[in-house]
Parts: sequence; structure tokens; C-alpha cells
Amino acid sequence: MLTITNLTSNRKFKIRNFEEDKIATLNSHPGLRYDGKARGFYIFSGNFFLKNSSDKLIESFEIKILVAEKYPNTFPIVISTDNKIERHEDYHISKDGVICLDHSYIINKLSCGEVRLYDVLEYYLPKYFSWILLKQTGITQNLEEWDHADKGTLQVYKTLLDINNIDIIKEFLETYLSFRKPRRNHFCYCGSMKKLKRCHLNAANFLRATPKKTIERDLTIIKTYD
Ligand SMILES: [Zn+2]
Repeated sequence: MLTITNLTSNRKFKIRNFEEDKIATLNSHPGLRYDGKARGFYIFSGNFFLKNSSDKLIESFEIKILVAEKYPNTFPIVISTDNKIERHEDYHISKDGVICLDHSYIINKLSCGEVRLYDVLEYYLPKYFSWILLKQTGITQNLEEWDHADKGTLQVYKTLLDINNIDIIKEFLETYLSFRKPRRNHFCYCGSMKKLKRCHLNAANFLRATPKKTIERDLTIIKTYD
């Protein structure tokens, strides 16, 4: 299956619920505060301090974090609220400042296995902000592209479906998109003539957690590999 970053590998203590997550997060990030719950989200805001390995401050970023109520099976939405990052897709940020942290499938997969805000802030945000600072200097020769979105889309599907043939992957997704709701006793989308429940049921269930629009976009990307 997908190689998933082990988000909790550096954590030496348990986080069992939102309250514990909140406390751990605020202790570790003194620039942030918890603003309470509104419209189905737990909301945090303030400054995120990017530090180097000697704990020296490199830069601070003003952010807002929305954690959906279905916590912990949800990936936090991180929004940049200052003007330190140019709103341009090259920087993996939307016009509204929503930061795109990783490939949507990795994020969905992580969400299935429960996500702690503390881990996201320890792992993803420093990685993203460091990348941004380097990218903004214009010295990008040795800078790897932020590993997200389009890059690796085909690879994600190859791994998810365990299919290498790009035509079969395209056909799988096209058929999947025309039915959506996995039908356990019907033929699998991959054309194996096996019943879905004996073939790609897990993959189909996983895709269900992904917005149709995302899959359509991915299919368009995969078609460009021809
Ligand atoms: Zn199949």
C-alpha cells in the first residue's frame, strides 16, 4: 500500500483526544492560541515560529488553523494570514491563503489512521515554510519541488491499485467515476471480470473518501502521461 510518513515517530508521549492534542500543541507553539469552536471547526490562530535545529528563530508566519469536528480523522486546514507568502500556485497556496500541504491521497490516507494536530505542526509546517523561504530566495537549483499534488499522481494510483498499466488505471478511474458508489457484487472497475469485493474493494472504498473533482483532475493529469 501507500508509503505513509510516520507522523508520530518522533513523539514520545501519547495524545488520546483533542484536549490532549490542544495542550501539547499550545505548549510546543507559544505563538499560537486556541480560539474555540465555530461552524464545525476547532480554531487556532497566531504565529508559527520556524526555528533551526539549534532552536534559533528563522522566521515567524501568521496562520490560522481549522480542525474539522470529525477529528481525529481529518487533516487540519492551515491558512496563511500574513503577506509573507505570495499567493501563487508555484508556492502551493490558494488565493485565500490555504496552504496545500501534501498530496490529497496521502492526506486522506493519513486521516483514515487519525491525525493529531501536534504531529502536523511538528512535521509538515516546518517542512513547508522552510521550502517557501528557500524558494523565495530564487536559489532553487538544488531545491526539490514541494512534494505534493500533481507530482507523483500516477505513482499514487499505481500503488493504490497495484496496477502498472496506465491504460488500465485510466479505465479504472473512468469506470469508477461513472458509478461512484462501490458495488461489491458487480465486476471490478479494473476489468479483471472478478467481483469488486474479491478485487479492488479497498481501493474503491478509499477513493470514496476523495472528492470526485479531485479524482477527475487526477485523471486529466494521468492522461497527459501518454
Ligand atoms: Zn480489480
